[in-house]
Amino acid sequence: MADPAGAPSAGPPRSSEDARLDAAIRQLKFRDPATARKLSETIARVTKEIGRSPVSVMHVCGSHEQAIAKFGLRATFPRDLNVIMGPGCPVCITDMPEVDEGVALARQGVLIASYGDMLKVRGTVQSLNDAQADGADVAVVYSASQAVDLARSTDREVVFFATGFETTAVATAAVIRGNPPKNFSVLSAHKYIPPVMEIVAEMPENRVEGFLAAGHAATITGWGIFEAFAEKHRLPVVVAGFEPLDILAGLARLVELVRDREPKVVNMFPRCVTKEGNRRAQEELWSVFRPVGGRWRGIAHVPNGNLRLRDEWAHLDARRRFTIDLSSLWDYAPPTLAADCICGNIMSGIASPVNCKLFGKECVPDTPVGACMVSSEGTCKIWHQYGGHPDLGTL
Ligand code: SF4
Ligand code: SF4
Repeated sequence: MADPAGAPSAGPPRSSEDARLDAAIRQLKFRDPATARKLSETIARVTKEIGRSPVSVMHVCGSHEQAIAKFGLRATFPRDLNVIMGPGCPVCITDMPEVDEGVALARQGVLIASYGDMLKVRGTVQSLNDAQADGADVAVVYSASQAVDLARSTDREVVFFATGFETTAVATAAVIRGNPPKNFSVLSAHKYIPPVMEIVAEMPENRVEGFLAAGHAATITGWGIFEAFAEKHRLPVVVAGFEPLDILAGLARLVELVRDREPKVVNMFPRCVTKEGNRRAQEELWSVFRPVGGRWRGIAHVPNGNLRLRDEWAHLDARRRFTIDLSSLWDYAPPTLAADCICGNIMSGIASPVNCKLFGKECVPDTPVGACMVSSEGTCKIWHQYGGHPDLGTL
């Protein structure tokens, strides 16, 4: 008789190594309320010991903000601790002229493929969705390799509008190195996080005293990459994972380092992150891309913050394969509400969504005015989704 649905099957005999691993995994308690309470108490006590208000720390990852909002962690932070989200959403920081390039190419007749949220983000005047409504061909893909599949299924030129940080840039690099078809090319708007941390650390307005670095990105770069930064800016950096206890433990360690004025790097995500990171992924990344200076939406020009294709891959670089004519865009008037959007200040850590007069009124996820309300990693969208609507009270 077959096993009842859902019952574990006996499977092949397991080694003692497997058994040890199973036991170790069972012992991992990611959602233990008693541990969460203890960590919250530590955060509150240490913040009080610092004796300043507010103590401001920044994380640079949309997934950290999602976990903080979803599990109500902000309600457990002491009033004197200001945990702010910096430029950690890949959709939000894609600059308007980069979207303009994608829109112009779509209007010139190539098939543009990109991640779903990117279609909703406005450039200077139009989004890819607007271009599609005007008759341009735009396709949603969930990965770089799906964009390659799309190119294999047609004779048309397919341009992958590639956005995101080093994590997604590695996936783009892999398809570029994987001999894609001749009708495939890449419009790279990829960004590299470490340089923007330098910019944010130097902004006098936000007075960040320590950083919680993204565990995902650090699996690739390694935690060692932050050592020079911590030394140069005399700021501590803690690498943290994405479970609620990961974040609380990371913050507890971070406030201790702030209190003790220890500008060092601590890895609180050792189950995934090493000092060196993933060497193979780094080699793939840097064999395809080179860092160049460029703007991040609403923040600043970031030296070495943008990733462009190296000369060896010029034949796959949409910017070199096509003449991108932006003039067709200027017939459209830019939306007037966008002038009130303060996305740039939010991503720099200077403002929070409730400081924007459009938040939850003219700007909501279904009709976003600014980029921060578009993506599931955007601060405004996250706050709106998890109770940040001003009618529901203050945060
Ligand atoms: S790409 Fe990964 S590390 Fe970067 S912001 Fe998104 S979730 Fe965080
Ligand atoms: S609420 Fe909307 S308009 Fe205001 S900052 Fe956020 S995304 Fe921009």
